[in-house]
Amino acid sequence: MAGGKLQAPRGTFDVLPEDAFARGLLRKRSEELLEHAGYQPAETPIFEDTGLFARGVGESTDIVQKEMFTFEDMGGRSLTLRPENTAGICRAYVEHGMHKLPQPVKLWSWGPFFRHEAPQAGRYRQFTQLNVEALGSDDPSLDAELIILLAQVLEQSGVRTRLLLSSLGNAGTRAEYGEDLRAYLRARDAWLSDEVRSRIDTNPLRAFDSDHEGTRAAMAEAPHLIDRLEPEDSMHFSEVRALLDEAGCAYELDPTLVRGLDYYTRTVFEFESPDLGAQSGVGGGGRYDGLVEKLGGPPTPGVGWAAGVERILLASQGMGWTALLPVRAYVVVPKAECRSLAFRLVQALRDAGALAEMEQAGRSVKGQMKQADRIKADYVVIAGDSLEVKDMATGDQREVSSLEDAVSAVTG
Ligand code: ATP
Ligand code: MG
Repeated sequence: MAGGKLQAPRGTFDVLPEDAFARGLLRKRSEELLEHAGYQPAETPIFEDTGLFARGVGESTDIVQKEMFTFEDMGGRSLTLRPENTAGICRAYVEHGMHKLPQPVKLWSWGPFFRHEAPQAGRYRQFTQLNVEALGSDDPSLDAELIILLAQVLEQSGVRTRLLLSSLGNAGTRAEYGEDLRAYLRARDAWLSDEVRSRIDTNPLRAFDSDHEGTRAAMAEAPHLIDRLEPEDSMHFSEVRALLDEAGCAYELDPTLVRGLDYYTRTVFEFESPDLGAQSGVGGGGRYDGLVEKLGGPPTPGVGWAAGVERILLASQGMGWTALLPVRAYVVVPKAECRSLAFRLVQALRDAGALAEMEQAGRSVKGQMKQADRIKADYVVIAGDSLEVKDMATGDQREVSSLEDAVSAVTG
């Protein structure tokens, strides 16, 4: 580093105030929505034992095979910066005996995740997710509720989306189908990309995700898992769909929808935005009824989703987040003797819900008016021998007779 230019590591970014406001607001509004639906906040560590992800995400996934930031600590333990949330939440559920709590246990969280990917627009090595998980019930209303909550988060953020929906059935169906798909792929082996060919044994489903031309052509006639659901899984999926239909939540059935994690069962879904280019996925998730047991806990159904905060904000460009800021006032202090009046006024403005600041750097009155412009104040209150309120949008300036009147002129 010596002498070199200091830069944030590749694939990371700083959140500066103009972005931080939109992020904060997205978090606050999402939090309100989720807490109204009975989801409670929970946080797990940013690193975990590497084995948790190997077991919980799946050895054959892209994430485990090539995207994890894994390191050895000073005690020789292998640790990994979390690439996703579900494994950590399931670990916490087992570790704290949460199966003894009233079920389902409904949790939400927000925080950083890490994947060693090629950085590009909407794809970073450290990114932020909003996550929701509901453990301990396989009721289809949970699947539907979660999907609707994500639709609402995206809608209130001004993100245009389409919702893709499918079902992966149970582990048995998936295993049997996997065998047939392997045979299908082997028979078309010459058409396939090297990557898909090399994963026929470990993860044949991923062939549906490929953008390799030959692979795509080969997959056109491939059998679909959704046509083979067992009656119970098929019924479960119908109920999820009926609930979405009743709620007016539009979706497209996509029998080729394959989520990147090994643990999904039954419902899977993904929200795509046409405003994101290549990285079109804004959020997705599904049911993972076998995962808790796989991690050593009691058999426990679960369902959840993850949404990418940076992609939501990229896709919500037209949202005008700053228009949602509270009214902003700047209190001008013409002379030092007026400071305590100005100070009281600022407190009263803040109490009334305005975003208020006063002069604190010894500027001239002219300099203070400039500063008011710079911070994009909606109102300036001049706290001198008289109290004057200036509307910065219209330029109108008028005298008010009391501190209370100044406050209502700004917040009224
Ligand atoms: P993609 O298809 O873009 O690789 P994914 O299937 O790997 O996405 P998930 O594991 O489902 O993504 O993660 C949920 C969400 O997290 C994604 O929809 C996306 O919004 C976001 N996300 C995933 N990886 C990244 C990344 N490297 N940078 C920024 N956001 C990401
Ligand atoms: Mg990915």
